[in-house]
Order: sequence, then structure tokens, then C-alpha cells
Amino acid sequence: MTALLRISGLTAHYGDFQALFGVDLTLNEGETVAIIGANGAGKTTLMRAITGVAKVTAGSVSLADENLTRLPAPQILTRGIAMVPEGRKLFPSLTVEENLLIGAHARSGNGYWTLDRVQAMFPILRERRQSPGTALSGGQQQMVAIGRALMSNPRVLLCDELSLGLAPVVIKEIYAAFPQIKASGTSIIVVEQDIGQALRVADHVHCMMEGRITLSGRPADLSRDAIHDAYFGVT
Ligand code: ATP
Repeated sequence: MTALLRISGLTAHYGDFQALFGVDLTLNEGETVAIIGANGAGKTTLMRAITGVAKVTAGSVSLADENLTRLPAPQILTRGIAMVPEGRKLFPSLTVEENLLIGAHARSGNGYWTLDRVQAMFPILRERRQSPGTALSGGQQQMVAIGRALMSNPRVLLCDELSLGLAPVVIKEIYAAFPQIKASGTSIIVVEQDIGQALRVADHVHCMMEGRITLSGRPADLSRDAIHDAYFGVT
């Protein structure tokens, strides 16, 4: 398998506070990787460091052998890394369709994702296209956030806590879209507190604790006990 995204020795700080300690991670072309870990483990910071939002103080991020470390966030987006942020962050004054179209301003990749394909994947977004984005339910807003990120045709889609605050049936509906996203050629990193969901969707899982990856493996090779211990810091 070809490594698409390569993260080496990544360290990040908020002022004097060190949030990441030498994180290594590889995402292969066509793969889905899940990052699990308790609150404050550093998962969001890792996503923000990859996308140029958090301050990287050491290490590197490269995409298809191009070094992206410390590029400004908009340039990382146009290189092909798009993020579905925690809390969705829709533009409140824009309609559903306008929120989706905003994502198309920075297009990269093979051009698979169009408004039509996003609306076909989540039909409710076509039905509600003229509604203010924030008038939708939490699950539907999450669909808008995913669609908006896909509209940039990313090579890598980063999803931060998609399941947060959503009912199990809604989470299932959202993750049902993942096979199509994978089939479109987009590689995926999901950050999840829902361990069961992470294990179902991922080819590889990494568990983080206190800014470090403490356990990695394929879902089938990781025992429930090992995951539990890595998640809760039992040594
Ligand atoms: P959560 O699921 O709660 O978002 P997380 O695993 O994503 O957890 P991060 O949000 O990356 O964790 O936080 C990692 C550490 O960095 C925590 O100790 C947190 O308090 C700290 N941190 C996060 N954002 C900031 C910030 N803007 N300023 C200072 N410290 C921060």
C-alpha cells in the first residue's frame, strides 16, 4: 500500500502547554484510520496540527511526499486535506446549499464530488437546500458539514467526533455514507470517542493518551482489554 499522509514526530503546543509529543502516523491511500481516546487526549489537536490550525513545534506532515508542515491552513486545504470540525461549525446565515457550495471554493483531487453527488448521498440536503443550515437537526447538520468538506474533493477527509451528541440511529445513518466516500478514492481519518463505531469503520485504529499514541493496530488484532487499558491509561 502507498502511504498518502505521513506524520512524523509531530509535536504541538498551546503557548507553553505541550499537547502533542512526537506523534507518528501513516494513512495509506484508500484507507480509513480511526483515532480514539478520552477527553483531552490530543485528538482534536492532532487534526488541527495536520490542517495547519494548531501550532506545530516539531516534526512533519507530508501528503504524497510533499512536505506540508507549517503551510497556512488554506493552502493545506487546496493540497487536498479537508476537515469536518467538531461541532460542525456551519455558517449560520447561509442556507444548506450555500454551506455546501462554500466547500467548493478550494477544490483539489479528481473532481468526483459535486453538489449533485453530495445531495444524492444525503437526500435530505436536497429537500432542505433552501433552509438555513442551522435550522436542521444535529444529524442533518453533520451531513452538511461532511458534504461541505467533500465539495473540496479532498484526498484526505478528517472527521472530528462525528457522533458527538447524536442518537445511535443517526450515527448509523451518517456512517452508512462511508463506503461511498471510500469508494470515491478519499482516504479518511476519523476521531471518535465511540470506540465501537471506530472499530467498525476503520482499517487501522490508534489510541491516544496525553498527547501520545499508546496503542495501534487493526481492529481484528486489538483485544477489548488492550483498548480499554490504552483508553483509560491502565499500565
Ligand atoms: P476532546 O474530545 O475533549 O476534544 P481531545 O482528545 O480532542 O479531547 P484536545 O482538544 O486535542 O483533546 O486537547 C488536548 C489538550 O490540549 C488538553 O489538555 C486540552 O486542555 C489542551 N487544549 C486544547 N485546546 C487548547 C487551547 N486552545 N489552549 C490551551 N490548551 C488547549
